[in-house]
Amino acid sequence: MFEQKGYLKVDFDQNPDIFIINTCSVTENADKKCKKIVKEAKKISPNGYVAIIGCYAQLKPQEIAQIPGVDAVLGAAEKFRLIELLDGFAKEQETKVLTSEIQEATTFNNAFSINDRTRTFLKVQDGCNYGCAFCTIPLARGKSRSDTISNILETAREIALTDVKEIVLTGVNIGDFGIHDGRRKENFEDLVRALDEIEGINRFRISSIEPNLLTNEIIKFVAQSKRFVPHFHIPLQSGSNEILRKMGRRYLRELYVDRVNKIKTLMPHCCIGVDVIVGFPGETDELFLETYNFLNELDISYLHVFTYSERANTRAVDMEGIVPIKKRNERSKMLRILSEKKKRKFYDENLGQTYTVLFEEDIENGKMHGFTENYIRIAAKYDPILINELKLVTLWEINPSGAVDAVEPETEYQSH
Ligand code: SF4
Repeated sequence: MFEQKGYLKVDFDQNPDIFIINTCSVTENADKKCKKIVKEAKKISPNGYVAIIGCYAQLKPQEIAQIPGVDAVLGAAEKFRLIELLDGFAKEQETKVLTSEIQEATTFNNAFSINDRTRTFLKVQDGCNYGCAFCTIPLARGKSRSDTISNILETAREIALTDVKEIVLTGVNIGDFGIHDGRRKENFEDLVRALDEIEGINRFRISSIEPNLLTNEIIKFVAQSKRFVPHFHIPLQSGSNEILRKMGRRYLRELYVDRVNKIKTLMPHCCIGVDVIVGFPGETDELFLETYNFLNELDISYLHVFTYSERANTRAVDMEGIVPIKKRNERSKMLRILSEKKKRKFYDENLGQTYTVLFEEDIENGKMHGFTENYIRIAAKYDPILINELKLVTLWEINPSGAVDAVEPETEYQSH
């Protein structure tokens, strides 16, 4: 939108006239991070205009307005009208605070990323109607709402005209896709089926989907699709039913096992990533071990571990059984080690197999990297011609940096 109005995007250290800082409420210490970045901006361009947007801006507009050097704070509904609302970006004496109640964020604004030529993140859904006890997202992003399938297909066709090979579908609660004006009109499975027909995009990846919304039909469809890759990221949050209930999650661990088994039966090589929170109130040593053992036995490929931290205006802040910070950190470390083990095992099981890798502009120590369809990070000798190319490779061995060295498919693999 800025570019259409004649603005030019420059790097942070190129003395910008305007800084638009997008904040996150999931990040720990969002307030400190926000202050730090405003200070840096002012150092680079003392007269630069600073506007703060994003989830943290919606949740704490007044706090942000107090930060020295901030010219404007825009909420969830206002941020999409940034250029019009801050007309000309003229500095004023007072900080402008333009936020409204989150209930007013009801329109869907479509967006996709354009800063990477291999992969695009396409937003298809926003907001969430769930009320997990630890989460501020519904307060910061509002109710569940989506783009329409026909709009998304149009955008995907537009992306297909560029050289991008992979689209990652994103949203806050993507499995809840299909609500327009407060009513369910479409669903996620229909979106997946429709996108699978789009010519010119080689891969679609589903970013993260709640286990209770990942239906057998979606799994079956992905299993036979040529474009939807065998990779799911499914939040678990806890392997203890007691904690899941306290969190207000909409499933129990048995359902999670069932999802993993269904996926692995149909796609034994499928990559499964898991989000998990440690240190939620009431998580005793025994209940944490339940989670640890549950994950240890589950056929999954990696974990994203989050250390629970208190967030204002959530139900969890008033819960009993606060876990000391030291314990939270110890548990997080244990699960991070488990994640490394899981990843290594998953990579190991796939050695000798032939997959397609999409090489990216990710160069390290003379090697280039990319991901297979099932999300294995591949390293190969740097060759600029291969960037943004899909190439068949045979997985050879795990190298010291943790990626997999690959070779031409004809090479006969011998386990070693
Ligand atoms: S489903 Fe996700 S976004 Fe929605 S409330 Fe729960 S954790 Fe937050």
